[in-house]
Amino acid sequence: MGNRVKIIGAGIAGLSSGCYLQMNGYETEIYELHNIPGGLCTGWERMGYTFDGCVHWLVGSSPENNFYSLWNELINMKRQKFVDHEIYNRIWDKNGNKYIDFYTDVDKLESELLEKAPEDESLIISFTRAIRRLKTLKMPVNKAREVMGPLDGIKTLIKFLPYINTFRKWHKLSIEDFSVKFENPLLREGIRALFVPEMAMLFILMNMAWMANKGAGYPIGGSLKLSGNIADRYEKLGGKIYYNQRVEKILTYEGKAKGIKLASGEEKSADFVVSAGDGFNTIFNMLDGKFKDKKIDKYYDKYKVFPSFMQVSLGLKREMNGIEPNQYLPVPGNLKIDDLTTINYLGLRIFNFDNTLAPKGKTTITALIPTKNYKYWIDLKEKDSKKYREEKKRISNRIVEVLEDKFGNIKNNVEVTDVSTPASVIRYTGNWKGSFEGWILTPELGFGQMDKTLPGLDKFFMIGQWVEPGGGLPPAMMSGRAVAQMICKKENKEFITKSF
Ligand SMILES: Cc1cc2nc3c(=O)[nH]c(=O)nc-3n(C[C@H](O)[C@H](O)[C@H](O)COP(=O)(O)OP(=O)(O)OC[C@H]3O[C@@H](n4cnc5c(N)ncnc54)[C@H](O)[C@@H]3O)c2cc1C
Repeated sequence: MGNRVKIIGAGIAGLSSGCYLQMNGYETEIYELHNIPGGLCTGWERMGYTFDGCVHWLVGSSPENNFYSLWNELINMKRQKFVDHEIYNRIWDKNGNKYIDFYTDVDKLESELLEKAPEDESLIISFTRAIRRLKTLKMPVNKAREVMGPLDGIKTLIKFLPYINTFRKWHKLSIEDFSVKFENPLLREGIRALFVPEMAMLFILMNMAWMANKGAGYPIGGSLKLSGNIADRYEKLGGKIYYNQRVEKILTYEGKAKGIKLASGEEKSADFVVSAGDGFNTIFNMLDGKFKDKKIDKYYDKYKVFPSFMQVSLGLKREMNGIEPNQYLPVPGNLKIDDLTTINYLGLRIFNFDNTLAPKGKTTITALIPTKNYKYWIDLKEKDSKKYREEKKRISNRIVEVLEDKFGNIKNNVEVTDVSTPASVIRYTGNWKGSFEGWILTPELGFGQMDKTLPGLDKFFMIGQWVEPGGGLPPAMMSGRAVAQMICKKENKEFITKSF
């Protein structure tokens, strides 16, 4: 049986699948449209500053967390430093006078919320009780569900049994639905800002439980370094990455994947093809919609995807020491982003906790803005590049004003301004609608699980955020690991891994 695997995309899923397949004796090549690895897990350098475009937390940052040993197969975790933030987010009131801190420590969080919003006591207690409950949950991560036998299934079910009531209660409730129950307006805003409002509460509670256990820290060096380290691991395991290579078609013959066709027209044959790139493009363009069923259609017709972000990044020639890094600031008078998006709050990251991202004595700041009209930005960039630049300038100027009013001494210190839009996300990662994390785990989608194979197509697999609803770095990494397990199983080979 042949062992040549062609992988589409050098995001975390593609790199992970490449590493695990190399560990298991497969000969792999990754074809990546961009000129660097990482996909969405990226950052960009401008005049000595690095603007991080992704990782806020990496689930699995401490040895007590089950994901740790898996990451340690891809990166040397002992060498990777992490920062555990004391505060997940500081939410300011509309006048910018009062704030609530969402502490990562659950006891501190509870005291803070009770002190600042005593009228919401029972909701606060039920919120923090759920975090405490989920702190004891250990996710079974070693064996992919696709290769589990009935006994493994029963064992997993038994592990989850004590949490069933917590799961049932919180997966039916979106962040938005939970937030409107609060009487205190500031706490209501804070709950709403926990994550994308459509997402089921359960998933943010799990994140908060991981943070409370100090198992979801920020990796020093950020996304660029993280992706670079995994790409390095892949190449050291003997894999090859071809950059600036857009895959246009997946070649099939008699219901089997046979290889890929690049934008240059060149064809590459393979024994297996793994798509770790965008889901929509893979199914509907690269495979011409020939291998799908109603379940797949339902996802693409019906389910919601995470929005595309605009990111305003600033390089400041000053220190910002002692200032809370994660803040949610009001934008007085609101700020129109595009014809469907107006914001009244701004999510801010002040990178005073990672001095590798700016020259000495300087600081990077990023503001992430979820947009509702990714098409507007694509059209504008294509049809009126002057206005595209002007719009980016208008928005970044306004954000600098908001920061000036809040912190002072900002405007004069801005050395670099960089604005990325949904058009940038699509150009560099090819993600459908510029989505930053694939399918939102809404209450409607629940624990949605998707297949990593397509109906009627053998020797082909799909991995990454478009087959792992909820997205994120651990699912991307795990789906790469899963596909190696699936291919090994198919070929009756024992799956092996190598750790640092
Ligand atoms: C702002 C932001 C913050 C985030 N914060 C976090 C966080 O704190 N924690 C967390 O866990 N997750 C976070 N995420 C989510 C996480 O980054 C993604 O879910 C994850 O990186 C997805 O990885 P992937 O490999 O599935 O997909 P992608 O990263 O999209 O990788 C796909 C790759 O395939 C390439 N590609 C696509 N089409 C083709 C083609 N035709 N030919 C060749 N190559 C192609 C792309 O260029 C890309 O490199 C964040 C994301 C963003 C944008």
